[in-house]
Amino acid sequence: MFGVSLTTNEAIGVTYNGLLSLQHRGQEGAGIAVVHDHHIRCHKGVGLVNEVFSHQKLDALPAGRIALGHTRYSTTGHTSVENTGPFVTEYLTGRVAVAHNGNITNAKDIRENLQQHGLRFGATSDSEVVSSLIAYHITKAQDTVAGIIEAAHSLQGAYSLVIASSENKLVALRDANGFRPLCIGKNETGYAVASESCALDACGFAYLRDVQPGEVIVIEDGEIVHEAIELTKCANACDDGGLCLFEYVYFARPDSVIDGLNVYKARQNMGMALAAEHPVEADIVCGVPDSGLVAANGFSAKSGIPLVSGFVKNRYIGRSFIYPTQTQRDSAVRLKLNPLSAVIAGKRIVLVDDSIVRGTTSERIIGSLKSAGAKEVHMRVSSPPFLHTCHYGTDIGSEDNLIANRMSLDEIRRKIGADSLGYISIEGLREACGECRLPLCTACFTGHRGGSCDKGSHVSKGVLEEKDAPI
Ligand code: AMP
Repeated sequence: MFGVSLTTNEAIGVTYNGLLSLQHRGQEGAGIAVVHDHHIRCHKGVGLVNEVFSHQKLDALPAGRIALGHTRYSTTGHTSVENTGPFVTEYLTGRVAVAHNGNITNAKDIRENLQQHGLRFGATSDSEVVSSLIAYHITKAQDTVAGIIEAAHSLQGAYSLVIASSENKLVALRDANGFRPLCIGKNETGYAVASESCALDACGFAYLRDVQPGEVIVIEDGEIVHEAIELTKCANACDDGGLCLFEYVYFARPDSVIDGLNVYKARQNMGMALAAEHPVEADIVCGVPDSGLVAANGFSAKSGIPLVSGFVKNRYIGRSFIYPTQTQRDSAVRLKLNPLSAVIAGKRIVLVDDSIVRGTTSERIIGSLKSAGAKEVHMRVSSPPFLHTCHYGTDIGSEDNLIANRMSLDEIRRKIGADSLGYISIEGLREACGECRLPLCTACFTGHRGGSCDKGSHVSKGVLEEKDAPI
């Protein structure tokens, strides 16, 4: 997500560049909404940012000072333009555009309530529900900011939001746990908010700070007009989470800083911890491009085993996991990485990747290393075994698909074809991310999601519709 409130009419171009820098966060679809003359115009589509926005499409949008954009990584709803953000909702006196990162666990209940009030829905995404709920509360409160805050009070789950209103406000908001990152930057033309600081850098905004958990920031005419903690955690700790640890492990770009911790540094620490926890005699260390590279660097630094680029990556193919069907994912892995037999043949290799989820990627990569002549492959993973479904924005449809759930360590090792296998411990991972200012959510590794809630169990209610191919 990326949004700007500027004093110049360049909001669309800046937002487009911001989305290009955030492409790694979602590759299913992209959209930009712009505020123009008390209206909101939006273009969105399925595909990568530069596929959705040709020059003509960008030029067809009216110039404006406020814009926001989104790249889609789906957790609910199938892949279609209807389910792509941002979502624009019209109400009696205006419009709002909403970009959402996270997963709303009570979306189904909210949607049913709103339907009873006569609201109609065209999509199956939880983010559309958020947009409609905000419009509903703005109408009720007859005030944009009060309506947004009221709407946020009814949301459960994970949500970082960027909202634009037709009355020229840009609002950045983060749930009280801070599950998903959100930061703010400034330059001489105004403010930008972004899921990651790498997008602020790329667009020439100096990083100011992260939006705090529960905070609502309102920007108008290029100035901050409101910044306050408006949302608190549920008293029953029903959503007792924190920043998603997987942001440091996998999602974020290593040139981003999230809640005080540099992602590169976190991954380097993870690699060093792995080398200390699971040492092995080997000739070279190779990282799986891209998200295993920095941890491989850390492993090499700690173990003294030289780091080698073991693969040529076809950079024109996106992140294989994000493709929504297994068939698409399988062929993407094969197309994406080719081992460099010149450096691999006859070597004992430490292969470092950030995670094993279903096991598809590691099995294929180890197979390709062995056929390129590797003597031994020792797999090292910079996250603990992924055991539980995530309800807060990581797309894991069912626990049956998680290899660590079905197999013992040695079974996994044999299945993926490794000569040895070592995962970082949860304590090692926490320590590697020790400089993060927020508590960390480790629910996908531990299954701990906080206590019970008098509103009823919030977990799993957000499924509005199964995705095209449940994972
Ligand atoms: P798998 O083949 O299912 O074991 O997937 C593991 C690969 O997918 C690793 O190489 C990761 O870099 C990547 N990955 C891990 N978690 C995610 C996620 N939540 N979304 C997208 N990609 C992921």
